Amino acid sequence: MSRIMDLAIAIAHVGANAKMTPPLEAVNAFSHFFVDGALDVSRLDERDGGCTRRELLLRALLLNAVLDQGPDIAGVRDLMVRSINKFYEDEIRIFHTPLDFFKEINVAVNEIWSAHERVKAARAAQWAEENQSTASKYNLYMDNTKQTLNYAVFRWGVPLALPYLLSQSSDELRRPTALLDYMESYPSAEEMSRGVKDHELFGLGKAIGDKACHLFAKWMVSTFNLSRINESSWGEYSYEVPFDSNAGRVLWRTGYLLALSDIEAYRKAQVVQPAAGKGGTDYIRVTNLRGMAVSGQVDEEVRNAYKVLCVGHLRSHKNAPRKIEIQRFQHPILYLNKQRVSDFDDGLIEIGRNYCYNHENPDCAGCPINQHCQGYQSDRSLITGYRT
Ligand code: SF4
Repeated sequence: MSRIMDLAIAIAHVGANAKMTPPLEAVNAFSHFFVDGALDVSRLDERDGGCTRRELLLRALLLNAVLDQGPDIAGVRDLMVRSINKFYEDEIRIFHTPLDFFKEINVAVNEIWSAHERVKAARAAQWAEENQSTASKYNLYMDNTKQTLNYAVFRWGVPLALPYLLSQSSDELRRPTALLDYMESYPSAEEMSRGVKDHELFGLGKAIGDKACHLFAKWMVSTFNLSRINESSWGEYSYEVPFDSNAGRVLWRTGYLLALSDIEAYRKAQVVQPAAGKGGTDYIRVTNLRGMAVSGQVDEEVRNAYKVLCVGHLRSHKNAPRKIEIQRFQHPILYLNKQRVSDFDDGLIEIGRNYCYNHENPDCAGCPINQHCQGYQSDRSLITGYRT
């Protein structure tokens, strides 16, 4: 267990020095919210047009979380910034007045298509080399769709429609903070992340994945500190780490997941899918991890911290949970060692994107956690036998 604790802390240290924040400062409409590269938090509640700065940034983060599900994060962010800046140049003020996006959908679709073409021209070759793929396969539209109309209305339109709906159902006084008020009506950031997807009236449904909901919570609570609630249920441990395929690959290859359960249990839950990966390798689907319990002995101190976090921070339980979920196992370790959940996630992103490539020759020699990695140190089959 101590090896796993050291590994989790090492990942958080990597993340603390390698933050990859959404490019809000590059959005021209927000550039005056930043001073010397840092968000001016003292003026977050000032009005900018019909909304507060805090509200506008939150609207942009919700859109960014939905779009961030593509295969090339840097490319997605470039596409987003190019498109948004062009919209605002054309007086389509999608965050201040989201209805503009729908009124000018012909312009929006064409601008998104043009931006995608430009990003593809700039990034496809490098992306193909890093991912052992071909440049012609570069596509940021998600779900392997190539239709800009579908992407624009489904992936851009749904997160832009939410603040519009909320502001229509708010009174005049609350309209400048309609999205913020709605998000903060949940008892914790974790509960909010579920509501963002599942709420019967306002949920984004299939437009957003579980990982993206948690990414949104991380940005709102930790990265940009936009929440106005000063309680543990809206603090650093109040949301789950947004596991994606990069995280799954790193956690598998390092031996982290195998220390918490055995291969048979992972196969049964279809986290490991035999021979379903590229070249006959086993495929790791980390989203199927949800709900799986840690199977071995857990130290009492970790168990107690887990209870505190589930009841008081995540607010997912009223009493001590019966099982410790693998998905949340890093929470008590980070909490006990005064490390940040957001740093752990940023560390997974940094390692997954820049070292732990999704093929059999990742850059292990340069990887900052290689001394903690079982795949590198003693069992290379963890690297060569699996893909995500
Ligand atoms: S040492 Fe290699 S296999 Fe292990 S996490 Fe780093 S890049 Fe991945």
